[in-house]
Amino acid sequence: EAPLALSDPEIAEQIALEAVRQHDGLEMIASENFVSRAVLETAGTVFTNKYAEGYPGKRYYGGCENADVVENIARERAKQIFGADHANVQPHSGSQANAAAYMTLINPGDTVLGLDLAHGGHLTHGHKLNFSGKLYRIVGYQVRKDTETVDYDELEALAKKEQPKVIVGGGSAYPRQWDFERMRAIADSVGAYLMIDMAHFAGLVAGGAHPSPVPHAHVVTTTTHKTLRGPRAGMVLCKQEFAQALDRSVFPGQQGGPLMHIVAAKAVAFKEALQPEFKTYAAQTVANAKALAEALAGEGYRIVSGGTDTHLLLVDVFAKDILGSEAEAALGKAGITVNKNAIPYDTNPPLKPSGVRFGTPALTTRGMKEAEMRQIAKWIGEALENRNDDAKLAQLHGQVSELAENFPLYGWLRQPASL
Ligand code: PLP
Repeated sequence: EAPLALSDPEIAEQIALEAVRQHDGLEMIASENFVSRAVLETAGTVFTNKYAEGYPGKRYYGGCENADVVENIARERAKQIFGADHANVQPHSGSQANAAAYMTLINPGDTVLGLDLAHGGHLTHGHKLNFSGKLYRIVGYQVRKDTETVDYDELEALAKKEQPKVIVGGGSAYPRQWDFERMRAIADSVGAYLMIDMAHFAGLVAGGAHPSPVPHAHVVTTTTHKTLRGPRAGMVLCKQEFAQALDRSVFPGQQGGPLMHIVAAKAVAFKEALQPEFKTYAAQTVANAKALAEALAGEGYRIVSGGTDTHLLLVDVFAKDILGSEAEAALGKAGITVNKNAIPYDTNPPLKPSGVRFGTPALTTRGMKEAEMRQIAKWIGEALENRNDDAKLAQLHGQVSELAENFPLYGWLRQPASL
């Protein structure tokens, strides 16, 4: 049979170009990472052919003996990493993990407290166009204007007033640690469940660089592809009492057959997360984010909440009269990939917000450390100052690519023979 390069050169070319793009630039989108060769290989295996509706030992299809072994290994490794009672490794994505978690805990129409998207939450925490906002009565909470962090006294007062059935913690653009213990106490005081969406910081928890929500929350959801460095997918962890309801909520509640090639790739990533090197990775990811935040502050940029405890930071570029969209475009021309992002109490619209979100998971996977972060912060400063000077941005791109070249990525993939 013909290899991809011959059977579909059009798509093969884009894959090759994407490999070059990922290699030659600096990937600073906080939700992205680079999986290992082993994870990448696993995601492209014959398990993509297999239907395995149900769970190990209780499938609705024959021929699941190998799938059963793989899924059991993935579940056990997930439980081991996070010290969880129960793990469901079938969600196709973080959004589906959250849908299954809500379905486990509450009914349509019930009240949920979630961090506003505009204050760092996620669409699935109650945006009005998302299933969460349509199915549940969502009450958003916000960060304080002065500290730009969650005020737990305010959260408690809101919970007492609104009597939610679930309180959701976690988000997509919140750079600080959460007080899980306090959140559980607030949830208990109003008879609500605590659900923590650790999608962004799961890898930091796995590597011991961030407190774990697992002992405190009734249900913990996550993606597997961000700091956790696995394939693009989701997972839910819960206390034993919710295990059966959770499994039913994932299948048949939200999904049909699991993506067994991706479940297998999750298992491989989880094994990696259990290695001592992953602790080093998690610690370095946070150290790099702190170094980047300090260096950008040194360039005169205001860092939302004054810094970071995690892998991500939000920079208020509008304080220097630059729109997040302008910054994203200029940095893109310099080979630095980021996303524009609203900042708390943003006065600008979502497509032209005041901020930029930076993350260090992907660059840390490539082996970069604090010295590189300081260099990159200088280039970011230069790119933003010269944002309308395409020649200068192209020159910066050259320097960026030189640095990237010193931290090779997927060298084996870039050889024409394997494309
Ligand atoms: N939860 C949080 C906190 C996220 O940041 C994201 C993704 O950005 C998700 C859930 C959803 O994940 P997915 O894009 O896999 O649906």
